[in-house]
Amino acid sequence: MTSLCPQMWTQLSHRRSWRVNEELDRLEWRSMSAPLVSFRDVEKTYRSLQGVDYKAVEHFSVDIEAGEFFCLLGPSGCGKTTVLKMLAGFEAPTAGQILMDGRPVTGASRERAVVFQGDDSLYGWLTAVENVEFGLRMRRVARAERRERALRYLDLVGLTGQAQKYPAELSGGMKQRIQIARVLANEPKMLLMDEPFAALDAQTRALMQEELASIWQAERTTVLFITHDIDEAVTLGQRIGVMRAGPGSQVKGVIDVALNGARSRTDDVFLKYYRQVHDMIRDEVAAAVGRARRA
Ligand code: ADP
Ligand code: MG
Repeated sequence: MTSLCPQMWTQLSHRRSWRVNEELDRLEWRSMSAPLVSFRDVEKTYRSLQGVDYKAVEHFSVDIEAGEFFCLLGPSGCGKTTVLKMLAGFEAPTAGQILMDGRPVTGASRERAVVFQGDDSLYGWLTAVENVEFGLRMRRVARAERRERALRYLDLVGLTGQAQKYPAELSGGMKQRIQIARVLANEPKMLLMDEPFAALDAQTRALMQEELASIWQAERTTVLFITHDIDEAVTLGQRIGVMRAGPGSQVKGVIDVALNGARSRTDDVFLKYYRQVHDMIRDEVAAAVGRARRA
């Protein structure tokens, strides 16, 4: 094999397209760094009020890398919220381990901010900007600094003009955006989102997806995004973890979505991923529907 002198290597690497560069960086970085989050053989068994056990997830294992947008997709009732709550520290696994930065998750932490579906936890007596700066106020961040930071995040979610409005004066989509600005203002290491746009109308939802994608491009906060919607997963995810139907749900497979930048639902490559995910999840949806009918 002919060897290349350093100058030739430099020339060659300059000629690599940005896309190839980005892909190589990603692979190199992934092989070098430890994951931010590791689910290891996690199990969660619930006990009903009648004393009956139900094993929602079992042998659930997956790694999430720092800075990635990871979508967890699965049929209704398969255990997605259970997984998110365990990582949030709201529920403890009954077996296995969840590690963040190599340390077991033992409870809730400001490092992991949670946004739930149709979350309406804004304080009605505070304006939009006061809601966004609330966490910073609790942490005694100086007034000028917290206002500046809150306005920056309101701007990021496109709501600068609504800063002085109260939640009752805002639409559902705007409230959800303020919610996101509020958690981002606390600068968490990770964002845990449980079907956050499921309650919005189709147009607002598409707009919110676009905005979240561009916020993530700008901030690169690690995101675990839960959805039952294939279209949403392919629109947003860098990787998509597909869950099996319960009981004892686990990750069936993880699909790498090599789409950078804006994603269009009409692109062939978008449809290719859509089909790939659809093929993987189809049987699980059928199993979940069958189980719900029998239960
Ligand atoms: P998903 O978010 O995928 O729709 P969940 O994680 O909410 O699913 O629930 C998974 C399974 O665990 C479901 O069958 C649900 O009925 C059951 N489950 C969830 N929470 C509890 C609970 N607190 N007690 C008993 N069973 C529960
Ligand atoms: Mg759920």
